[in-house]
Amino acid sequence: MADKHYDLIAIGAGSGGLSVAERAARYGKRCAVIERGPLGGTCVNVGCVPKKVMWFAANLAHSLGDAAGYGFDIELRGFSWERLKAARDAYVQGINDWYHSYLADSGIDLIQGEARFVDARTLEVGGERYTADHVCIAVGGYPAVPDVPGAELGITSDGFFALESQPRRVAVVGSGYIAVELAGVLKALGSDVTLLLRREHLLRDFDAMLREALMEEMLNDGIGILSGTQVAAVSRCDNGELCIECDNGQRLEGFDALIWAIGRKPATAGLGLDAAGVETDAEGYIPSDEFENTNVRGISALGDVNGKVALTPVAIAAARRLADRLYGGMSGRRLDYENIPSVVFSHPPIGTVGLTEAEARERHGDAVKVYSTRFTAMYHALSEHKRQTAMKLVTVGAQEKVVGCHIIGMGADEMLQGFAVAVRMGASKRDLDDTVALHPTSAEELVTLR
Ligand code: NDP
Repeated sequence: MADKHYDLIAIGAGSGGLSVAERAARYGKRCAVIERGPLGGTCVNVGCVPKKVMWFAANLAHSLGDAAGYGFDIELRGFSWERLKAARDAYVQGINDWYHSYLADSGIDLIQGEARFVDARTLEVGGERYTADHVCIAVGGYPAVPDVPGAELGITSDGFFALESQPRRVAVVGSGYIAVELAGVLKALGSDVTLLLRREHLLRDFDAMLREALMEEMLNDGIGILSGTQVAAVSRCDNGELCIECDNGQRLEGFDALIWAIGRKPATAGLGLDAAGVETDAEGYIPSDEFENTNVRGISALGDVNGKVALTPVAIAAARRLADRLYGGMSGRRLDYENIPSVVFSHPPIGTVGLTEAEARERHGDAVKVYSTRFTAMYHALSEHKRQTAMKLVTVGAQEKVVGCHIIGMGADEMLQGFAVAVRMGASKRDLDDTVALHPTSAEELVTLR
């Protein structure tokens, strides 16, 4: 006999779980969210939010370096990682607290603990049973650690956010979002950083222009980048520092931290999915169809756990649409996974939406026309350290429909959102050209490309 019955139970109080419950509650449904950790999931606690705080700090460090060019005579007396971390933790705690009161105010029950399916409609948490007409699995994931000797001597992005003091010399292993973001932050704040790529490129799935420009900028910032270097083993040397053996025979020494940033895994072990009959793929992700249905009726999976696109706004959008479809009478409502914009908080940042040039050429051949530019943003006219900006529009057909927009440079992160709207609406190059420029900005280059 179940203790409590709900219209909807979301497993995971991250971006997906909170959003589906919140929207469902607004439709008058009785909802609960089950969470074993702090509220807000990866994004709030060990992802987007604390990362963006660190990125702002890194930007400030760059600005301090640029200030002399603008006439400032600054004596920098130091930087306190400890103070920054304390302020960041307090900010995150504030968001956690806000979520607690928000759930209470919304009439959503918070069930704290590990969820385990008893059957497709019943979940057990801490010995109590709860049933629901609909269960939404939104448990997210966790950082991967490779299976190499000594891997446990390294930390992941979770460990990065727990660091109480600044590591002096850091090896960052990986080539994706997290690797380039953390490498950039650490370098700007004064650590000596070596990035280890197992292949030649970073951000492999991104447009080549972005990859190449970022690589140049990271090298110019003094980040050591070793490509074609796979870690074979990690050990602690006699002096307490970390030593890295690479599969090419290279031995790297003298690190006081190693960060694994090699992708993430779904947190599905322990959910008792078998008891509910929910299928997973070989990596543990729960496949969901275009409406986020799993193979079991009445159970959906969204956010990082379905393995589609691991981005916070994607989880939120999918979750809200699911609630709209289930409870809002919008039968066809679903998330369109085409043209999802994305930002990498590198230095400089990247904003990207749509097809890369290579993808467009593969799909559309000679119908593709590309417009691009590379320049130094006006801000750097007076700064000693110059950073480049590069932009690319990928168009298709006689109408020159814009199918891709790729930007790296100062402000790219804020610039992209509006262009993403235009791409989604099917804008042509002509539409962009017909839009009056904002001057003087970097963004104006995107509406004046020749
Ligand atoms: P990513 O998937 O972005 O990149 C990980 C990369 O590391 C792989 O693509 C692979 O690249 C490389 N890699 C994999 N295994 C190894 C290995 N054993 N040794 C060395 N390199 C390896 O993962 P992240 O962990 O960076 O981030 C996870 C996800 O979180 C992202 O994909 C993104 O969706 C999300 N995220 C989004 C952010 C944002 O929106 N700004 C910020 C941070 C994360 P290759 O095959 O080329 O070697």
